[in-house]
This record gives sequence, C-alpha cells and structure tokens, in this order.
Amino acid sequence: MLAPYAVRVEQSRGRRFPESQHPYRNDFQRDRDRIIHARAFRRLEAKTQVFTRRYSDHFRDRLTHTLEVTQISRTIAGALALNADLAEALALVHDIGHPPFGHAGEKALNAAMLDHGLSFDHNLHALRIVEDFEQRYAAFPGLNLTFEVREGIIKHSRDYAAKDYPELSQYLLDQRPPLEAQLIDLTDEIAYNTADLDDGYEAHLVTLEEIREGVPIFERFYGEVAQLYPHAPNKLKFNEVLKRILNRFADDLIQNTRSSLTQSAIRSLDDVRNHPERLAAFSPVVNAERQQTKDFLHEFVYFSPSLADEKDNAERVVIELFNFWMENPKALPHHYQEKAKEESLPRMICDYIAGMTDHFIFEQHEKYCG
Ligand code: MG
Repeated sequence: MLAPYAVRVEQSRGRRFPESQHPYRNDFQRDRDRIIHARAFRRLEAKTQVFTRRYSDHFRDRLTHTLEVTQISRTIAGALALNADLAEALALVHDIGHPPFGHAGEKALNAAMLDHGLSFDHNLHALRIVEDFEQRYAAFPGLNLTFEVREGIIKHSRDYAAKDYPELSQYLLDQRPPLEAQLIDLTDEIAYNTADLDDGYEAHLVTLEEIREGVPIFERFYGEVAQLYPHAPNKLKFNEVLKRILNRFADDLIQNTRSSLTQSAIRSLDDVRNHPERLAAFSPVVNAERQQTKDFLHEFVYFSPSLADEKDNAERVVIELFNFWMENPKALPHHYQEKAKEESLPRMICDYIAGMTDHFIFEQHEKYCG
C-alpha cells in the first residue's frame, strides 16, 4: 500500500519513446533493470569512491557504495510507504555520471572545462549517459527511462534554477522532486558517512581515539557498546557503533520526514511538488550529528595528507589528457570526433574522460602523455 503522496507507476509521465507494457515488470522495475544492464553502471566497479585499490580490495568503490545507498533507500522508502521501485532505480543511477578518481577527477574535469567557458556537473552528465551514450536498443537511443527517473537524476541532490538551465525546462524545475528522489541525497550521506569512517579506520588514516574524540555520536554509542561487550575486539565494537549510527540516521530520517509530512498536511504528490521546501530531512539534532561526522571525515580522511599525492596525480592525469586531446582531436576515437562536429570539442573530450574507469584513464594517459 503506497502513501497518497508516493509516486504511482501507473501515473508516470512515461517514456520519451512510447513502449508497450511488460507482462510482469512495471515501468520503474524495468528502469531499474535497464540501469543495471548499462555499461556505465558496470564501470562503477572500477571507479574510486574515496580509496583507490592501492589501499585494499575490500574498501568501497563506486559500485559497492551505490549498492549500499540502494539498500538503505529501499528500506526507508518502504517504511514511508513510498514507491520503493522508483527509489531503488534512482539510487542505482545516482552516481552513474561520476568521472574516474572520485572527487579529484570531478574537480579536475570541471577546471579543464572552465578554461573553455564550460563546466562539468555529474548529474547533467548522468542524464547524457542515459539519454544518449548508452546504445543498447534498436528502437531508441539511450535507455528511454521514465520521466520520473530522469527527473530524479537531475533533481535528487540539488536545485537547478529554470532561468539558468532552459534545456532542463521539461523537468519542472520550479517544483520540488518527489519524496523518492529527495531521499536519495540523504541516504547517500548515511551510506558514505558510516562507510568512510569504516574504510578510513581500516586504512589507518584515523585511530579509534581520534574518531571518539572528533565524532560525538560515535563516542556516545561507543560507551554503550563498550558496556554491552566489554571483551569484544575493538574492530567489532567499532562495527557495532557504526551499525547504531546508521540505524539512528535512517530512523531519524523516517520519523522526521513522516512528521514534516503530517505537519505540512501533505496529502498528494502535487502537495510534495508544490511545497516550498524539500520535505525529506533529518531532524535538527541528527542533522548536527551528521554534520559533525562529515566535518571530521573532511579533515581526517578526504583531506588527509596521505591521500594528497594520489589526488594531485589524479588531477594531473585528467588535465594532461584533456589538453592532449584538445590539441590532437584526431587521436580521439572516431565516434567522438564525429560528435564534436555537432557539439563542442571540449564537451566531447569531457564526456569521453568522464566515462572512463580509473584503470582505463591511466592506460590512456600512459599511451598519449607517458
Ligand atoms: Mg553517492
């Protein structure tokens, strides 16, 4: 039973190229399956989330991060009686537009584009992937996803002002996205705030003492866990604490969103869309805990001096390859040379680089700039 403000698949605004119904999968389930079968989805496995393979084979990459976000999103969507199929499809696709090398790659690609008066945005890139680059079906270009999934790709994490993005006007930029899309940005945070503490600790970038001192919510649960399991090994206590943090964030997101919906008398999807703010949110208390955790990760993990060399190198690889192809467009694959005639050369190079895995971009850099 879906809540009255959930997205109903039978009321979907549909696909760009109409298709007949599948006998036993609804349109959002089909979108989910199309995403999983996309090449760009498989490449997430070889893209850095935070740590490269140099550290460990069992740290998160973009694919396993995506799966964690998907699991949390399905659970929360279900608890709120939202459309879990739509939430699942949106979570699976949420990072598909990320370039190689995590945040460093994104920063470098954007800097390279700014030199040509352009920019790189991973949400807009994700839309280009599903609309155009994925060529799987004879009947239409791209994955021909439903409107609600395309809208969620654009709007899940930020707002795009209608006046600055006329090309996105079909996505109802003056309205809020459905709750299923609003959730994704927050479940993404739940997933990485806990996972990055885990991987950061395992990578020895942070000690247990530093985390206990710098992350108040961690320290509180640590006290509880240490009383319950005084003789457990540290790593298992650590895991017990992370589990409690994840549960607290997820519980709070469910409870707080539910009470906002009640307080604002939200009774339909139109009410969600026309509400002045996003309704999916943490409570102020948990939001502060989330922010403290995030600030700690920024200082001790993401901007840790031990990661600096690798990030600088990643940025250098992106910039050098970008500039090489700007000067030698004939060295681009034929398909991109053709496309550069319709769109600009910098955009084509950006698209090409953004689609690469860490491994492939190193290979290309070695070949052309090595
Ligand atoms: Mg993510």
